[in-house]
Amino acid sequence: MSEPTTTDALPGPRIREVLSRLPAYVPGKPAAAPEGQTAYKCSSNENPYQPLPSVLAVIREAAETINRYPDMAVSELSQAIADHLDVPVECIATGTGSVGVLGQVIQACCDAGDEVVFAWRSFEAYPIVTTIAGAVPVTVALDEQQRHRLDAMADAITEHTRVVLVCTPNNPTGTVVHDDELRAFLTRVPQDVLVVIDEAYLEFVQDPDAPDGLTIWREHPNVMLLRTFSKAYGLAGLRVGYAVAHSAVAAALRKTAVPFGVNSLAQVAAVESLRVRDELQERVDHLVKERSRVADGLRDQGWELSDSEANFVWFDLGDRSADFALTCEESGLMVRRYGDDGVRVTIAEPEANDRLLEICERWRREG
Ligand SMILES: *Cc1c(COP(=O)(O)O)cnc(C)c1O
Repeated sequence: MSEPTTTDALPGPRIREVLSRLPAYVPGKPAAAPEGQTAYKCSSNENPYQPLPSVLAVIREAAETINRYPDMAVSELSQAIADHLDVPVECIATGTGSVGVLGQVIQACCDAGDEVVFAWRSFEAYPIVTTIAGAVPVTVALDEQQRHRLDAMADAITEHTRVVLVCTPNNPTGTVVHDDELRAFLTRVPQDVLVVIDEAYLEFVQDPDAPDGLTIWREHPNVMLLRTFSKAYGLAGLRVGYAVAHSAVAAALRKTAVPFGVNSLAQVAAVESLRVRDELQERVDHLVKERSRVADGLRDQGWELSDSEANFVWFDLGDRSADFALTCEESGLMVRRYGDDGVRVTIAEPEANDRLLEICERWRREG
């Protein structure tokens, strides 16, 4: 703890009251190894693999010119994304990670007191970003399979609702919404309410019933997609994400962006990552195989799991969550505990996944 400064006892500037009620964003713990063991960080859903050499090369090269501001319009990257997805470039808006883009969305759509509907548990950034913008989070509990209850979410829409967030796969439970459910839901959402489909884990999805976000987007003027380079593309440390939005929404997102927010290293790294995406997808496919191996192994041990389509698994442990998380950490596996709801563990390199299976086996035996 640092020493209090001499002015701490004096009345200072008034800070918005809402900030004192904000849930804190808990970052994943860094890896800490017990004696003689390797530790694995499975607490932040990161890609366990280093950037590809060609991505590192463009970052190194761009580092030489970071005395200059980045391209404020993020032109080359936006064009590369538009080409990759075959959408008009005016439908792409970038930001400092997709969390940054989400902040732009709320600022673009919500005045003070407007409502943002989302499932819970879902991504912990949702209530934070919503509350900071002065909007009001309205949460709808997941069902017993840890899936979105889209019907109940449609019921929760009022005249004050401006945005609905649909997280698929859902962080932290891994479940996806299905195409038919999503389409039925969209028929119930008023045209002036923006539906944001957060597809942070899109590249890991294999369920044939999962929606094709781009098709849904093309067919619905009030839908936008949120995507990121942080997970499958392995650029979490550079902070770059984007929206696929109809042009009026995308234009609004550009207005609420932090000027020069997407830095020059992030821009070139993302462009190069799109160029070598087949090579990156091989790594994603490998992680998906590992996910199946872990889920099958856990089910063989007798665990009941929700169906994860992302790069993590969810342990619905209730008040045993703290105990389980501690056991994992004592064995060198850093995991993410969510209060007394459960524990999320990222699928990582095979040795980390083996470690998880061992811990889980021991936990059940000693139960
Ligand atoms: C990780 C994650 C993101 C991406 O965050 P970035 O800001 O792009 O790093 C967005 N949504 C969900 C649900 C996530 O889990």
